[in-house]
Order: sequence, then C-alpha cells, then structure tokens
Amino acid sequence: MAKRQLNRRQNWRIEKIQGERAARAAKREQQVLQELEGGDLGPERLGLVIAHFGVQVDVEAQDGEAVGEIFRCHLRANLPALVTGDRVVWRAGNQGIGVIVAQMPRSTELCRPNNHGQLKPVAANVDRIVIVFAPAPEPQANLIDRYLVAAEHAGIQPLLLLNKADLIDDHNRASLEALLTVYRSLDYPLLEVSAHGGDGMQRLQEALDGFTSVFVGQSGVGKSSLVNSLLPAARTRVGDLSDWSGQGTHTTTTARLYHFPNGGDLIDSPGIREFGLMHVSRDDVEAGFIEFRDLLGRCRFRDCKHDREPGCALLGALEEGRIQPQRMHSYRSIIASLPEDEY
Ligand code: GDP
Ligand code: ZN
Repeated sequence: MAKRQLNRRQNWRIEKIQGERAARAAKREQQVLQELEGGDLGPERLGLVIAHFGVQVDVEAQDGEAVGEIFRCHLRANLPALVTGDRVVWRAGNQGIGVIVAQMPRSTELCRPNNHGQLKPVAANVDRIVIVFAPAPEPQANLIDRYLVAAEHAGIQPLLLLNKADLIDDHNRASLEALLTVYRSLDYPLLEVSAHGGDGMQRLQEALDGFTSVFVGQSGVGKSSLVNSLLPAARTRVGDLSDWSGQGTHTTTTARLYHFPNGGDLIDSPGIREFGLMHVSRDDVEAGFIEFRDLLGRCRFRDCKHDREPGCALLGALEEGRIQPQRMHSYRSIIASLPEDEY
C-alpha cells in the first residue's frame, strides 16, 4: 500500500515536471514565433514538407522565388501537427526561418501507433505503397496480406514488388508462382525486379514516376538496396547517413521525402517501412480483403465470424473457389492476432 502511494506520488511529480518542461518549451517557441511574426514576413507561398523535427519543418518552396529550395519553418501554435508529405502555405522570415501559416487538406494519411498506442499520422499524401517481398527471406503470404489490408484501409494503391528475381530457382519457383497467381487473380499490380540490376528497375521507376510512394516489407527483402538504386544521390544529399542505416547517435525516425529524377517522390523512414503492422479493427480487416467486398453483409447471421456458421457467404465462396484458401488463411490469422476487444 505504502509502495503504491509512493508510486502515485512519484508519478504525479514526474507528470508535473514534464508538464512544466512542456510549458516552458511552448513559451520559448511562442517567443520565437512572435519575433518572427513581428519582423517582415514574405508573401504567402505554397510548400511541401520534406522532413519534420518537432516544432520545425523543412519546407520545399513550390512557387514564387527559389522554387525547389528548402526553408526551415516554425509552426504556428494553432496548427495541427504536420508530417512529411504535407502541403502547406508558408511565409519566409527575415532571419532565414519561415513560418507555416496553413495546412492544405491531405488526400491520404499513413498512420502508426505512437508509444502510447494512439494512432498518429506519419506521412501525408502518399499514393503508392510498394510492398516488397523476395525469394529469400521466404515470403509470408499473411504478412503481404497485412500490408494489403493496411493499404486498402488507407485508400492507397498497393504495388506488389518481387525483388531478388535473380534468386528464383528450381527450388522456389513453384511456390513463388503459386503466390503470384493469387495476387494476379485479384488484379493487384505486380512487378519482378532485382535491385542488383536488370531491366526490371527501369519498369519499377516508370511505375513510380509521378506518384508519391513508400516502400514497406519484411526486413532483408531489399528495401534499402532498392531505394539506393532508385536514388543514388539520396545518401549524400541528405548528409546524414545515420538516417538510412537506422544506427548511430543521431538516428531520427522522422520520415523524409526525396524526389525521383523524372518526377515522383519517395517518403522513407524506418518507421514507415513497417507501418502495415498497425492496429486495425475486424471490420477494417474484412474490408481490406478486396474479394470479400461483394460478400460482406450477405451471411445469414449479421454477426457472422465466417468461421463455421451456416449460411456464411465467405465460406460459400471459399468452397466455390471464389476465395483462395491462402487468403482465407491470412484473414483468419490476422483476425486472431487482433487485440481481444476487437473480436
Ligand atoms: P532491407 O532490410 O529490406 O532494407 O534489405 P536490404 O536492402 O538491406 O537487403 C538485404 C540483403 O539482400 C542485402 O545483403 C542485399 O545485398 C541483398 N539484396 C537486395 N536486393 C537484392 C537483389 O535484387 N538480389 C540479390 N541477390 N540480393 C539482393
Ligand atoms: Zn460469414
């Protein structure tokens, strides 16, 4: 009992200290902003957030003078949190630091749970999710399906990318082909490439031109290799290797936006690469299996769990071959992995 009270008191102190610290930081921030706003601000201009660091963001000018140049900007306190990929209205300041004055509406949001389990956007306006897999490490259909569910949930077009095509051999060809057949039958776009060379990379680049993409997938499938091959200049341009290696003292998990040479962008960060493992509800999962769409709501029981229930539309479709067993298996394993309260 005594111990518990002590803990509560300790907690209260910690919260108090944290609160005071946050208030002091907000006040300092407010002073900086007031100084900025008190000075001569430039005209309102459009910009693209290419990286964010707490209360500051790097904005690339999209109109007016110095298009394509990058300006560090402060956020006005009344603005919602900005993320990489956001389009904004900003004004240049007289001390080299600008001010964000408005956030433009987002077409899409990629969200991830933060340390407190709350879903927070990590990137905005992404319109391609490239789901990377490879002959090795051996592809896990249910992981690919998780990413597909996440893409469907976010309303973003997925592109399935089989990397390390050079490793396809007599041992893995049949199982890979079976996997690919399932996704072809669902009309998901699919490309085979080798990050180490070949003409596949050219086709991949063409598929990405003009879009804002993210790469996701299991560790070891070749995401870094693909990104480095598509953006050879990225490492030097960013000037911070630790961002890419995920190691080193200055490692930041903030997402960054890079331009492809022919137009189109890539948003990348260690956190984004695994975003598909986010929390989703049972309904989200059902809606994320595109072949279920016409069947949902047609089961005999309204609360059908598509498990063993008589008159289940999904089980009927499975029997008739309109749902692939592998996909049904994925669906079940994803549902089984949801937190209790989503059942
Ligand atoms: P990540 O964890 O998804 O970022 O994967 P990496 O890019 O670090 O690649 C993991 C390993 O796969 C490295 O040893 C790469 O050299 C290798 N790799 C990547 N792409 C290819 C490819 O197209 N073919 C072959 N044979 N190996 C590749
Ligand atoms: Zn059912």
